[in-house]
Amino acid sequence: MKDLYRLMPEEMEKMVVDIGQQRYRADQILYPLYYKFPKDISELRQLPSAIRDKLVLEGFMIGSATEIHRVVSDDGDTTKLLLNLVDGTPVETVLIQYPSTKINGHPRSTICVSTQVGCAMGCVFCATGQMGFMRNLKAEEIIAQVIHFADLLAKRNQHITNLVFMGMGEPLANYDETIRAVRLLTHQRGFGIGQRNITISTIGIISGIDRLADEDLQIGLAISLHAPNDKLRQKLVPTAKPNSVNDLIAAGKRYFMKTGRRVTFEYALIEGVNDSLEIARELALLLKGNGSHVNLIPINPTAGNFQRPNRKNVIEFEKILYNAGVNCTVRVEKGSEISAACGQLRTDIIG
Ligand code: SAH
Ligand code: SF4
Repeated sequence: MKDLYRLMPEEMEKMVVDIGQQRYRADQILYPLYYKFPKDISELRQLPSAIRDKLVLEGFMIGSATEIHRVVSDDGDTTKLLLNLVDGTPVETVLIQYPSTKINGHPRSTICVSTQVGCAMGCVFCATGQMGFMRNLKAEEIIAQVIHFADLLAKRNQHITNLVFMGMGEPLANYDETIRAVRLLTHQRGFGIGQRNITISTIGIISGIDRLADEDLQIGLAISLHAPNDKLRQKLVPTAKPNSVNDLIAAGKRYFMKTGRRVTFEYALIEGVNDSLEIARELALLLKGNGSHVNLIPINPTAGNFQRPNRKNVIEFEKILYNAGVNCTVRVEKGSEISAACGQLRTDIIG
């Protein structure tokens, strides 16, 4: 079966012409796909039924996700779904809302999508990493997660304002499908979200970062650093190369030079592992003066025996960076009681 959500507008035009129809029919498929969220070709009402039948005959379908489990945080701001993809694969997708941050009168609503089932990078504190790698997601399977939430939000008269590739998996290890999804989701004739409202988070695949910088996209990049030196980083990210810390700083600079987009370094704070004030000073020294931004993420205890540092420690860690002039934020803890860390829900439900 061929999923209509896979096709770029130009490919959609070629497809309709190939099946003997006029080019303009493409937009009669694209518009409902991205604004009405149909689940079946029969719902593409703008198209004459003969064309709908032809599409079915040609093996086309509309891939949509089915919700199999939902958890909502106590404050109602975080909704985490376990979604079944067309082939029955369960993936996690999260909505994080910030009711106090209004964008054109609507709450900031960020969707966090998965790009792989499992992950080969093996980060010791990450539930997805501990699952191992199962498979890459197709662009249309990434889009299905977005569309599911777009539909859910539309029913509340809200919409997706931001999109982050921070769910299960390593987006740059599934480069082509991730970029296809980004292009479809940002295309004016596709979902049409602004490139600047998208962030890709990577554990640091250097070739992928450099490729991304050359894509002529204005998307944000977050690099998961987690340690200021290679010895510690390799303990947390077993697949990291021996010189990854410096390589990542350099790749971040190149990305900034090419795109003009500031790079964020993510730092998962783990009690007694990478949260000492001495390590904070080492991190400050490493990042000082390079204009980057650090996002401290007190971890959700998932894999292994890792714990989140106490609040006081987090604030002191942040203060050291701040005093060194390193721009820094602490990720607002949302949804930790609903297993909102990446890969956690699938692990809890599916095992
Ligand atoms: N593979 C990419 C993107 C997905 S992980 C990457 O690693 O960047 C997205 C973010 O979730 C990463 O910054 C990662 O550090 C964070 N994360 C993973 N496990 C976590 C946990 N147990 N608690 C909090 N954050 C976690
Ligand atoms: Fe993979 Fe990211 Fe989890 Fe590491 S933190 S195992 S790269 S998903």
